[in-house]
Amino acid sequence: MQLKHAALVIVDISGYTQFLRQRNLTLLHAEEIISQLLESVIDVAEFPLTLNKLEGDAAFLYAFMDDDYEKVAKDILKQTVAFFPAFERKAAELSQDTAYCDCDACSHISRLKLKAFIHHGEVVQKKIRQFEELAGESVILIHRLLKNGIEANEYLLLTESFSTLVDTIPELKKESRIEEYDNADPVRVDVYFPPAKIPPLKTQSYTPQKRSMLMAQTKRLFSHALDKSKADKFKHIPNKKVGVWAYFKDMLGS
Ligand SMILES: [Zn+2]
Repeated sequence: MQLKHAALVIVDISGYTQFLRQRNLTLLHAEEIISQLLESVIDVAEFPLTLNKLEGDAAFLYAFMDDDYEKVAKDILKQTVAFFPAFERKAAELSQDTAYCDCDACSHISRLKLKAFIHHGEVVQKKIRQFEELAGESVILIHRLLKNGIEANEYLLLTESFSTLVDTIPELKKESRIEEYDNADPVRVDVYFPPAKIPPLKTQSYTPQKRSMLMAQTKRLFSHALDKSKADKFKHIPNKKVGVWAYFKDMLGS
């Protein structure tokens, strides 16, 4: 057993529980969708950030901070921010793949949102066979934070002890809060919210003809507006539906 400094990260997917009707097919598909979304996030994680375990709709990751706390913390923050566009990309992909199925799970993928929590503290490291078991107050604290008073369903939460190790993210709206718990100390946190989304076009109200006309007009408009050099600049943006987090990730230069 060893006492070590670590950054602890939990990613949590929410959005289903409120409306899924308890049907076998729906539950099966919900399970599959959640695990694919979690995988898409975990796949982005790189050493030193390591998966510890899956916990239902959430995943628990950690990174030991042996020497330079701030350097590791910055890396972990950057990686965690990158989880959001990875999640959105996968959700868009799954929405397309499951378009044939009208079960509650497949038709409500767009309601699924990602929350991420990061804490820094000491953990007790135990090795049981090949498994890394993490224990201690810090592990309890980050799990406790999953239940909080934040009303949004998509955010990045940093505890104060982690937040002091990194720069603030100027592009995002930040809220400093204190989460209170029965029988436990209050926790100071900084919560970052994604920029407000541009409401999508209400495609339903367009006939297919009107829609394709609109698309053609938009394309023409863009080809006029963007000369070749500008068009090249956008080459790296994948031709998939991605949300605001992708642009934010771009800003961080990852
Ligand atoms: Zn389905």
